[in-house]
Amino acid sequence: MIDFNKTKGLVPVIIQDNITLQVLMLGYMNEEAFNKTKNDGIVTFFSRSKNRLWTKGEESGNFLTVKSIDIDCDQDTILIKAIPKNVVCHTGSFSCFGEKDSKGFIYELEEKITKRIDEKVEGSYTYSLYQKGINKIAQKVGEEAVEVVIEAKDNDADLFKNEAADLLYHFLILLKAKGFSLKEIEAILKSRNQK
Ligand code: AMP
Ligand code: ZN
Ligand code: ZN
Ligand code: ZN
Repeated sequence: MIDFNKTKGLVPVIIQDNITLQVLMLGYMNEEAFNKTKNDGIVTFFSRSKNRLWTKGEESGNFLTVKSIDIDCDQDTILIKAIPKNVVCHTGSFSCFGEKDSKGFIYELEEKITKRIDEKVEGSYTYSLYQKGINKIAQKVGEEAVEVVIEAKDNDADLFKNEAADLLYHFLILLKAKGFSLKEIEAILKSRNQK
């Protein structure tokens, strides 16, 4: 439980991209903003300059959809993981601290693959492979893996890197087709790493 008295009514809120974990912006909430955010599932701050509740995106349409809310160790700071619509900063930049973090590119690719499939985009290679079913996708992953093995024995760096990229891309399609996410695989690797 946040103690809004302890913080004189306002608590800083860090907004993080739910997928890449990039820090997107920082705002403040009073108890009313906090409750509204929890109820609506989109972020509402208390704006110190406007001196009123401010739903991020109320003018621009660039809302922040809440995925999780965490409170820090001494209950005076909030961390919200959110899905941003378009850009977050009013200057037009993706985050208030700069452009999109490319460290999360694999996760962006996973999102794009998911979109192609969910939106049934005709003419998309991703969607057409998906439609062929699990066996065909798995076979394709196998083929790309073999190509990586072949190129590993050779000394052409470009060919090897391209086959590695093919493998990763097809692997992401297979994960999606099986109904799993990269995060779940990452969690397994992380838990092994702790042992
Ligand atoms: P919005 O909430 O996106 O509709 O924007 C409304 C107004 O809030 C803008 O004109 C800015 O003054 C301000 N604003 C929007 N986004 C941010 C942000 N990330 N950080 C600070 N101020 C913002
Ligand atoms: Zn704290
Ligand atoms: Zn900004
Ligand atoms: Zn290949």
